[in-house]
Amino acid sequence: MRTIKYRAVSKELKFLRQLNARMTLPPHEKRYYSNLEKGFKGEQIFDSYVEKLSNDFLVVNDLLLKHNYTTFQIDSLLIFQDMLYNLNVKYYEGDHYLEGKNWHKISGTEIKNPLLQLERSESLLRQLLQYHKFNHYPIESLLIFVHPEFNLYNAYPELPAVFPPQLQRFLIHLNEKPSQTNHKHEKLANQLVSLHQSDPPFSQLPEYEYEEIKKSLLCNRCFANMSHKERKWVICQKCGSVEDDQKAIMRAIEEFKLLFPERKITTNGIEEWCGGDIPSKKIRRILSQQYQRVGHGKYSFYVG
Ligand SMILES: [Zn+2]
Repeated sequence: MRTIKYRAVSKELKFLRQLNARMTLPPHEKRYYSNLEKGFKGEQIFDSYVEKLSNDFLVVNDLLLKHNYTTFQIDSLLIFQDMLYNLNVKYYEGDHYLEGKNWHKISGTEIKNPLLQLERSESLLRQLLQYHKFNHYPIESLLIFVHPEFNLYNAYPELPAVFPPQLQRFLIHLNEKPSQTNHKHEKLANQLVSLHQSDPPFSQLPEYEYEEIKKSLLCNRCFANMSHKERKWVICQKCGSVEDDQKAIMRAIEEFKLLFPERKITTNGIEEWCGGDIPSKKIRRILSQQYQRVGHGKYSFYVG
């Protein structure tokens, strides 16, 4: 297999990770964030399985496409010689049941029918391929359930889904399916990547104020506070992860820009944002090296 497009953390998830680490999210947003995080985890697990396959096919992950003013998402598209797999990866956990076309958690709570999303993406993908004259590939769309503890009562054999006990066989099937890709398949993959819409609008945005947000250097891995260890290093107070302080400060500046795009970047501002633990001299040096200074003296700020 060859990956043409890798999966990246979406801007929305980056954003919510920051907010979650720096404030108490309202319950609704917290749930939404936790679902995004779980979804991403499921996709990463599936990617790690697919990456081990050696068959000749192309992988395009995480596509956000638009056709006829309608946006749709594809978690993983596998391009084989004679067909495409449109895979929608789910990290649902625990018992669920089907009642007619409705999907429920065992508690009775109805959840969004994932088949609707899958069918919609297949139909739009087919139209988009026809529009771009790639109409000779049949598409098979499947829900892929990767959490080992997922169970669906009342599931029926025609359901286009791969359940956890079937996952291994499905991967073997992908690996053994006769396939040889060439420049035409690559052209298709590249065309789809070029149509990918980056940075979609966020579905919901919790309200927050600068004053109520925690200011600190946050760990790359677990989002806990980091503090200075020695001259050049910062250490996470929770997981013990050690990082070059310049890298951590640069990341903090980007987080600041993400959360407060309207605020000016100044030495004092970033010093406060990093929790006051980093000498302003160091922050000034990093800002002047990595960003562009506008103005002079007291009123100067940085862009970039
Ligand atoms: Zn940590």
